[in-house]
Amino acid sequence: MKKHWYDYLWIVSLAYLVLGFFNILFAWLGLICFFVPLLISIATGSKAYCNRYCGRGQLFSVLGGRFGLSRGRDIPAWMRSKAFRYGFLAFFLIMFGNMLFSTYLVFSGANSLREVVTLLWTFRLPWQFASPAIAAPFWVQQFAFGFYSVMLTSTVLGLITMVLFKPRSWCVYCPMGTMTQAICQCKAKKTDNRSA
Ligand code: SF4
Repeated sequence: MKKHWYDYLWIVSLAYLVLGFFNILFAWLGLICFFVPLLISIATGSKAYCNRYCGRGQLFSVLGGRFGLSRGRDIPAWMRSKAFRYGFLAFFLIMFGNMLFSTYLVFSGANSLREVVTLLWTFRLPWQFASPAIAAPFWVQQFAFGFYSVMLTSTVLGLITMVLFKPRSWCVYCPMGTMTQAICQCKAKKTDNRSA
């Protein structure tokens, strides 16, 4: 099958994670993976991002499929349930809001910069080695540490799910996937109502 440029976006996802070990400010680039899927689903009403352009989903396919790191089992039914997917999305958004609040506290001077990456919302890993050499406002750095924590945590969860189940099982409960699916469903409903 003919390969397209977007079939290699998994390399970009991998590079993103590696760059976070060298300079935490690269974490800001992860916002692209936040806004582009939402914009594509709002504009087109489709999950084109997930189906074509998501480097992270591709990374799980490559590691779990090509490299055989997945047991290939079916994901349990409860993880497919609406309750779990939306519950996880709500939890994810609350933790994201918490990260934004921490950034605000540093911006306002109420808190000082914490050069740590928090893995799985629990484990604080010292990450001073990735502090930027150039002077960047503390809140800019704090957001980068927080956002990288989100990206690393979701990747680790995705890798665990990949090993235990089928390679792209993370996509079943990925918050971005749940949000874009909800947008597509809303758009499809609106179209149906208009044509009814
Ligand atoms: S569900 Fe998430 S990880 Fe999977 S393809 Fe979509 S955005 Fe990427």
